[in-house]
Amino acid sequence: MQAQARAGVLTALLAAAALAAGGEGPDPARPYVEAIRKVNQDHARKPGKTREPELAKRVPKPARASLERLLGAGDSPAALDALLACGEAALELDLLEDFERIRARLEKSSSERARRLGIALSHPRFLIRGLGGLSAGYLERFADVLDAILDAYGEVYGFEEWSKVPGKKLRVRLHLEEKAAGAPHFAPQFEFHSEIDYPVEDGAAFRSPTAGGKFLFYGLCHELGHLIAMWGDAKREEDHHAWAHYTGVAIVEHLARGAKDRPALSGLADVRWRSLEIERKRLEGRRASLADRDGTLALLIALHDALGPRALGGAINLLDRQDRRLRLNGVRYYTFRELKQALLAGAKTAEEKKAAASLIPDGPGK
Ligand SMILES: [Zn+2]
Repeated sequence: MQAQARAGVLTALLAAAALAAGGEGPDPARPYVEAIRKVNQDHARKPGKTREPELAKRVPKPARASLERLLGAGDSPAALDALLACGEAALELDLLEDFERIRARLEKSSSERARRLGIALSHPRFLIRGLGGLSAGYLERFADVLDAILDAYGEVYGFEEWSKVPGKKLRVRLHLEEKAAGAPHFAPQFEFHSEIDYPVEDGAAFRSPTAGGKFLFYGLCHELGHLIAMWGDAKREEDHHAWAHYTGVAIVEHLARGAKDRPALSGLADVRWRSLEIERKRLEGRRASLADRDGTLALLIALHDALGPRALGGAINLLDRQDRRLRLNGVRYYTFRELKQALLAGAKTAEEKKAAASLIPDGPGK
C-alpha cells in the first residue's frame, strides 16, 4: 500500500516536472484557464457587438497547445486536476469541443472527476451545465423548454440583451439533488455572464408542477424576470418582488396559448395556478402603488394593460442603451422613476403618455 502510494506521488512529481520542463510553471491548467479569463475580461471591459462564438476564437495558440499537452499527459492527480479546471474554464467561453474532449479523457482516467465536471449543452442563446448525474436527454428537454420561454419573452416584451455582459450566452447550472432541493434562483455573482442556479429532484422527466407541488416551469420564467431586471439597489427592493412574478405569470400564460404546437411544453400545467388572469382577478380594485408587493403588482399589470408589454420591454431596452442606471456586480438595477421616463420617451400617443405618467407614482428612486 505504502509503496503504491509512494509510486503515485512519484508519478505526480514526474508529471509536474515534465510539465514544468515545458515552461508551464507549477499549475499546468494555468495557461489555458488564464487565457480564457483574459479574453472574458477584455470583452467585459468593452463588449461592443461581439458575440461569444467570436470570443472563443481569441484564445491564443500557446494556451490551446497547453491543453493539448495536458490531454496527452499521464494520469497523475495533478494532470487530472488540471484537466478538470480546464474543463470548467472551457465552459466560461462556451468552448464545447474542448469541454467534450476533456470530459472523455476524464471518463477514461477518473470517473470521479468526470462526474464533478458534469455534462454540458450549448445552444445559440444559452449554455447548460448538468451535474449530479443528470442525463443528456434531460438537458435537451430542459433546453427545449428554455428556448420556448426565451421565444415567449421575445414575443411578449422584445428584450434585446439578456446577459449582464452583452454578447455572452446565459448560463444555467442544473443539478440533481437527492432530496429537498432548494428553489431555482438567479445567481448574480459570476463576473462574465448571467447564470440561473436550478436544482432538480427528479432527473427522469421535466414535469411541472412536480409531485411535491413545485412550479418548476413558472420558476424558470420568474427567475428570467430577475435576470433581465432588478429593482432598487442592494438595500431597497423597489419592486417588492413583484416584477419577476409579473413577467413569470405573463410568460406562463402566453405559452399556454400556443402549448399544443410545442411538444416541449406538454406536461407543464402551471397556468392553472400561475397566470396573469388569476392575478388580474385577485387584484381587482386594488390601487397601483409602490407601497407593497400587491400594489406594485397591480401597477405592473395596469401598465401591461394600458401600454402593452412591448412598451415595458422597449423602456428597459432604452435604459440599457443609455446604460446609466445602477449596476451592482454588473447586474442591472432599475428604478420606477427611470422606467417612467423611458415609457414617456417611448409613448406614441397622448393616452400612452397619460397612462405612464398617472400610473407610476414618483418613488424614492433617482
Ligand atoms: Zn423571485
